[in-house]
Amino acid sequence: MLTHNLGFPRIGRKRELKRALEAYWQGEISQQQLLQKGSDLRRQNWKIQTEAGIDLVAVGDFAWYDHVLATSLLLGVIPERHRADNDTVDLNTLFRIARGRAPKGKPAAASDMTKWFNTNYHYIVPEFSENQTFELTDNFWFEQISEAQQAGVNAKPVLLGPLSYLYLGKSVAGQDKLTLLPQLLKTYQHIFDKLNALGVSWLQLDEPLLALELEDNWLQALAAGYQQLNKGKVKLLLATYFGDVSHQLPLLAGLPLDGLHVDLVADNSDIAALHKAVPDNWVLSAGVINGRNVWRSDLAALYQQLQPVYQQRGDKLWLAPSCSLLHCPVDLELETALDSECLSWFAFAKQKCQELALLKHALQTNELSAVDQYSVPIQARAQSARVHNPTVLQAVAALKTRSADRSASFTVRQQAQRQHFKLPLLPTTTIGSFPQTAEIRQQRLAVKTGKIDSSQYQQQIKQHIQLAIAEQEQIGLDVFVHGEAERNDMVEYFGELLDGIVFSQFGWVQSYGSRCVKPPIIIGDISRPQPMTVQWSRYAQSLTSKPVKGMLTGPVTILGWSFPRDDISRQDIALQLSLALAAEVQDLQAAGIEIIQIDEPAFREGLPLKQSQWQAYLQWAVAAFKYCCSDVSHTTQIHTHMCYSEFNDIIVAIAALDADVITIETSRSNMELLSAFEHFAYPNEIGPGVYDIHSPNVPTVSWIKQLIKQAAGKIPAERLWVNPDCGLKTRGWNETRSALLNMVKACKELRSEL
Ligand code: GLN
Ligand code: ZN
Repeated sequence: MLTHNLGFPRIGRKRELKRALEAYWQGEISQQQLLQKGSDLRRQNWKIQTEAGIDLVAVGDFAWYDHVLATSLLLGVIPERHRADNDTVDLNTLFRIARGRAPKGKPAAASDMTKWFNTNYHYIVPEFSENQTFELTDNFWFEQISEAQQAGVNAKPVLLGPLSYLYLGKSVAGQDKLTLLPQLLKTYQHIFDKLNALGVSWLQLDEPLLALELEDNWLQALAAGYQQLNKGKVKLLLATYFGDVSHQLPLLAGLPLDGLHVDLVADNSDIAALHKAVPDNWVLSAGVINGRNVWRSDLAALYQQLQPVYQQRGDKLWLAPSCSLLHCPVDLELETALDSECLSWFAFAKQKCQELALLKHALQTNELSAVDQYSVPIQARAQSARVHNPTVLQAVAALKTRSADRSASFTVRQQAQRQHFKLPLLPTTTIGSFPQTAEIRQQRLAVKTGKIDSSQYQQQIKQHIQLAIAEQEQIGLDVFVHGEAERNDMVEYFGELLDGIVFSQFGWVQSYGSRCVKPPIIIGDISRPQPMTVQWSRYAQSLTSKPVKGMLTGPVTILGWSFPRDDISRQDIALQLSLALAAEVQDLQAAGIEIIQIDEPAFREGLPLKQSQWQAYLQWAVAAFKYCCSDVSHTTQIHTHMCYSEFNDIIVAIAALDADVITIETSRSNMELLSAFEHFAYPNEIGPGVYDIHSPNVPTVSWIKQLIKQAAGKIPAERLWVNPDCGLKTRGWNETRSALLNMVKACKELRSEL
């Protein structure tokens, strides 16, 4: 029986790859130095895996920016605008596709980036041109294999499979992507030929699209496509992950495979049933260790589950993480600030590899002392007072019996709020954050490192609030914000103030390219020891007669951007967050804050991969949002904000949120996203974004006016708000001021014209 790994974090224990990439882009290190760094990291990763006891090490999983983009280069899928005059394809080509520019070569618009299935990793979308051809082009993937072979690593190359690759791309000319498959398969055939020449024994092809509920034409194409491949001596392991694939088993069992990897964690798949369905002569790779979370695995329990299967399947059972370890932090040993209890509950990538070796040993020898011992902290966690708070559990149980609706209908509230606020037609506002200047970040660092004390820091934050209020008065906005100067990040800020959530020091996970995130870790029942935002909102409101919006991050988003606990459902975690946020909403209202915004940018992201599971998710996600604000008075106006989201297929749920006002990103799509609201006859008020906050360009008055006019063609002007697409924290004050002045001017002119 072998242990193997589907992929290892490429970013490095201390984000070495991030540093090297950014230094290269800045021209601070040479390409040679960058290449050397990559080579060092790969060796380090192979060493970590081998020493941990992994038999077959993932190779070819390293990528400079993204593995989908690396596959594009391998296959010669390079947008025309990124091709060099002499048609050479190199590292700079790759960076130009990813970022629009590189130290060398002509800048051109970057390719789109989008979420990798339901993870927080983003990949670069392959662009298929009208006459797209495929041809082995970039050699880096093969070089990694040779490099590993030379280093004596027991290498199992890993590559994105042809169907998933095609599925994830977009055809620029709108042609049916499946028409490209025959040619693409020829190129995969060349890959098999080369791997045969290299003497590779196993190839792992990833087809994560199999966890979706695929259209029939894709399923048929997959079945037919794999039949055509001539593998030679190379054995083929098809890897599926992020969801159960039981629904595809009849199809899968007919493929010419040597092994199938299944994710047993995502949907709690039944290993015994899978074992029965998968042909006896195939390897069944059991993805038993969660590759997307930070929890220590209950090896004693896994032993019990796997033992009967191992008895029957013997060496044709392999052990693996559920998916690539790309989605979890690298090494728990770096954590020195977490207490020992917490440490005993976690396992990062390196520790997960060690878990596989321990489990294998237990299965092979039936010696259970090591796995029993390993599982002791998990049993301790099940009893820990830090995890379980009976008061929270009671409150959640009580919440579930209550209606999440506000006591008055939207029509009644809207009337009351109109009388109360007396806002003009097309009220103007912003989404929350104002520029996070270098000064603000320095001050935050100073308080963290003890250079200044917390009362000094609070004074400084107050000054930033004063400045934000004064700017908004000058600009002439209608509804103000305090500016979020006190927030490092919209989730981390709340995570630090809530009980039941902890933070690692080095728990970074790649989000895209050199960008990493360090998600909070939800370890126990969540509660709010004290108000989190009230002092800032109250102070801001004291400086102006205009309404200042209170600003909160919603339960679905806090959950979505954290590592959740694995011992209760996502729904229950979300409801615990609702309770904490509902208390905050009450305190804000009591402090005289009459408009409260609850941001849910991750609302759509939380959708399950299988559409048949959407309804269940939407039901609890909507409820979790509504419980935050179901108890406020009619005149308290609840806003929510969502960005970079399609609304067509979830508009019923969006309407069910029943926020008095929803602000959304729309400017880049030319108000296209508003159509969903128009066709649904969405009843509440909407603020479609009128300019893209990702660009430093200042939108003109006439540009903004034409966008608002377009919006007014879809939604009656009486229900329209005017605001930027999203928060302004990444912008400078100069462009922010100019853009908002134009926005306000556009509204003033339109008020008399409409
Ligand atoms: N209120 C947040 C801000 O303005 C919203 C951020 C977001 O939507 N991602 O920064
Ligand atoms: Zn946003």
